[in-house]
Amino acid sequence: MKVIHKVIFGLVIITILIVQLYWLHGGSLVYRISPEHFRFLATNDQVQGGSSTSELAYKGEQATLSCELSKTPDYAWPYCGVSIQLTDKIYKGIDFSSFHTVRLNIDFDELDSERSASLRFYMRNYNAAYSKPDNEYTLKYNGLEYSPGVGNGDIDIPIANLQVLTWWLSDNQIPIQHSAPEYTNITLLELATGSGHSQGEFKMTINSIELVGHYISAENLAFSLLTFWVCMALVYSVVEIRRSHNLILRSHFRQDHLSRLNKELKEQNIHFAELANRDALTGAMNRHSIREWLDSAYADSTGKRLSVLYLDIDHFKSVNDLYGHSMGDDILREFTMVVLSTLSSSERLVRWGGEEFVVFCPGRDIEEISQLAEQVRRRVESHIWVHGDPLTTSIGVASLGDERVNEMLTRADEALYKAKRQGRNRVVVSH
Ligand code: GH3
Ligand code: MG
Ligand code: MG
Repeated sequence: MKVIHKVIFGLVIITILIVQLYWLHGGSLVYRISPEHFRFLATNDQVQGGSSTSELAYKGEQATLSCELSKTPDYAWPYCGVSIQLTDKIYKGIDFSSFHTVRLNIDFDELDSERSASLRFYMRNYNAAYSKPDNEYTLKYNGLEYSPGVGNGDIDIPIANLQVLTWWLSDNQIPIQHSAPEYTNITLLELATGSGHSQGEFKMTINSIELVGHYISAENLAFSLLTFWVCMALVYSVVEIRRSHNLILRSHFRQDHLSRLNKELKEQNIHFAELANRDALTGAMNRHSIREWLDSAYADSTGKRLSVLYLDIDHFKSVNDLYGHSMGDDILREFTMVVLSTLSSSERLVRWGGEEFVVFCPGRDIEEISQLAEQVRRRVESHIWVHGDPLTTSIGVASLGDERVNEMLTRADEALYKAKRQGRNRVVVSH
C-alpha cells in the first residue's frame, strides 16, 4: 500500500471515529444552573399591586419556593415564582444559541388541589434592538408552560419548543424581524405559576436546572469535516502536481544528459575513427588509411595521374643523439606541420615510418611535382627549428606510369636513396 493510501485510510478512520464520538458524547455539554452559583430570587405579584407571597429556602443545590397566591380586586392575575439572575449586568448575558435542550427537575405542587400545577419557564434575552437596561420587562420572553408534577425527575424540553409570548410582542411593539425566539444573550431564567391558578398554596422545589448543548453543532462538525477533506484534497493535488512536475523535470534532465552523452560519444567515435586513420605522434595519415584511399581512388589506375614525394629527414639520428628522443618527437611534429604548410588540400601526407614521409599528389604531372618537391625541400631548409639547428630533407620523386602504385613507390624510394648518396638536401626525380 502506498503511503498516500495509508494516510487516506487513516483519515477515513479518524473521520468515522469523530462522527461516532460526536453521536455518543457530542451532545453532552451541560450547563448547570444552581443556587450555589447564581442568584435565585422569589418573585410575586406584589409589585403589580397583588397580594401573593413567596419565599425561597435553600438546601444544598435545591431551592424551594413556598408561595401563596391570592387574588385581590386590584390585580386579576396573581402569580409567584423564581427569578434566576445569570449575570450581574442585565444587558450582558450568556449565549445559549448552541444549546438544544432544557433539562428541568422540578417538583411543583398545588397543596390544596388535586390538579397538577402548571409552571411557566422563561429564558429572557437581552437585545439592545428592543431591550432597555432599566426595564426588565423589555427582555424577550422565550417560554413555555408545562406541568412538572412531583417526583418525575428530569424532564427534557427541546429549546426549539419555546416560543416568544405574543402579549410581550404586542406590549413592546416588537418588529417582525425580532419576533423569533432568541438565545444569544440570556440574562434571566424565570419560573412562575402557570395559567389557571388564582389562589392557593404552592410548593415548588427546584432540584436542578440544566441546559444541554453540543460542544460543536452538527452543522459545524459537518462543515469542519468537509473543510478538512477539501483541504486534504487540495494538499494532495498540490503534492501530486509537484511530484509529476518533478518527474517531468527529472526526465527532461535525464533526456538532456543522455543526448549530451550521445553527442560526446559521437564526438569520441569520430575522434577514434580519426585516430585509426592518423599517426598518433604527428597527426599525419598512417599507411593503413592511405591504403584504403588508394584502393578506392586508384583501384583502376589507368589514365589517372598520381605522383609521390618520398621524404627522409637527413641525419635525424644525430638530432636524437644530441637533444634526446623527446626533442626528436617534437621535431617530427614540427616537420609534419612545415611540410603540410607547403601542400594543397588535395595532397596527402603519410608518415611512412620513423622519420620517413610520403606525399601522395593526385592529378599532377612530373614537372609540377618536381617543383613542389623543391618547394618542400627549401621550406624545410629555411625553417627555424625548435632545437635551433638547421634541418634538411632528401626527396625522391616518382610519377605513376604504366605500373602499380607499389612499383612507383619503390622507384621514389630509389630516387631518395640516390639523393642521399649525392649528398642529401636535394630532390631526385625518377624518370
Ligand atoms: P640519413 O637518413 O640522413 O641517412 O640519416 P638518419 O640518421 O636520418 O638515418 P637513420 O635511418 O639511420 O636513422 C633514423 C633515425 O630516426 C633512427 C631512429 O632513432 C630515429 N627515429 C625513428 N623513428 C623515430 C621516432 O618516432 N622518434 C624519434 N625521436 N626518433 C625516431
Ligand atoms: Mg630513414
Ligand atoms: Mg634519415
